[in-house]
Amino acid sequence: MTTPSHPLVARAQRLADDLLAPQAAAVDRTEVPVGHIEAIKRSGLLGLGAPEEYGGSAAPAAVARATAEILAGACCSTWFVQTQHHTPVATLVKGEAPVRERLLGPMARGELLSGVAYAHLRAHPRTPVRVERARGGWRFEGTVPWYTGWGLNDVMLLAGITDGGEALFAFTEAREQPGLRPSPPMRLAALTAARTVSLELDGLWLPEEAVALRKPYEQWAAEDRPKTVAASPAVFGVTEAALGLLDDDVAGPLRARLSGIRDRAYALADEAAPHQHLDERLTLRLRSYEVMRAATTAAVVSGGGRSMALDGTAQRLAREALFLLVQGQTAESRRAHLDALAS
Ligand SMILES: Cc1cc2nc3c(=O)[nH]c(=O)nc-3n(C[C@H](O)[C@H](O)[C@H](O)COP(=O)(O)OP(=O)(O)OC[C@H]3O[C@@H](n4cnc5c(N)ncnc54)[C@H](O)[C@@H]3O)c2cc1C
Repeated sequence: MTTPSHPLVARAQRLADDLLAPQAAAVDRTEVPVGHIEAIKRSGLLGLGAPEEYGGSAAPAAVARATAEILAGACCSTWFVQTQHHTPVATLVKGEAPVRERLLGPMARGELLSGVAYAHLRAHPRTPVRVERARGGWRFEGTVPWYTGWGLNDVMLLAGITDGGEALFAFTEAREQPGLRPSPPMRLAALTAARTVSLELDGLWLPEEAVALRKPYEQWAAEDRPKTVAASPAVFGVTEAALGLLDDDVAGPLRARLSGIRDRAYALADEAAPHQHLDERLTLRLRSYEVMRAATTAAVVSGGGRSMALDGTAQRLAREALFLLVQGQTAESRRAHLDALAS
């Protein structure tokens, strides 16, 4: 694959080389620093997918993928915090006017960083977060199991299911407030640095003007499915980083496999309609996991006992790879992955 030539790709590479990669080991053992988020905000990367009239770059998908690969390979925790922002931006672009006019400009210009709490919608028919009409707005009840970037992002896009069976997405400030209480930050096998919490929603009330999107659950789920079967650029980025630790005789064959999978996955993303070739996309996603597992394992083996040091790059990449196996997992991809592992 050739990396697209674009100012945002160059900026991502500079950020990765000058800031993210040199500090990744220290960040992994602590937290993504506010300084990293400020650098991301200044870089223009937060507006990468936003329309130009709102201050964004409206960059092609290939640029979004390339920057994600670069950032994830340099510091997966920082990549993960900032990648949350792109779903809220995309939701605003297609969503209701009042909240779009209030937030899309500041989010496209990198003045506000958004997190997102919506993966729990995929647990349907379970409804971890319920929403009902109240006082001319909406009241949220339940538990968000995962919310990343607490203390780093400014706003959040929060999703739940209404009693009418709709998926509803609304924005609120990313801070403790009446009806919204965070857990302590989770201690995790990887990406503890990304400041992930769960959120208890106990009557959080948001006005109608906060709603960005409301549509029947089935319609939302059909549009969401292609995203959960696609191979993640972050997987390719972490794999590339692991390959960079290996001698050519080992890295070469793995890199060839990686390129084949990536080229086909990206070609499908660009050339096929979103609902086409879903089985092949999922197969490519699973094959990308296999190469990531091989590359990160090879990096640990290659480093020997030294790989076990907590400031070592290979073990960090291997742990980040574990995280990427479950990120965005659905019942469908979980089943397919387990079947592939068992065969
Ligand atoms: C560190 C971290 C940070 C995250 N941050 C965010 C965030 O900021 N925002 C956000 O929206 N999401 C976030 N996520 C969610 C992430 O995308 C989810 O891990 C992913 O969607 C899988 O969800 P899960 O672990 O709850 O379900 P999984 O256990 O992976 O299951 C996936 C689905 O399979 C089904 N299932 C589960 N167990 C079984 C079973 N035994 N038999 C049959 N079916 C089953 C359920 O329908 C479930 O929804 C984060 C996750 C992690 C690990």
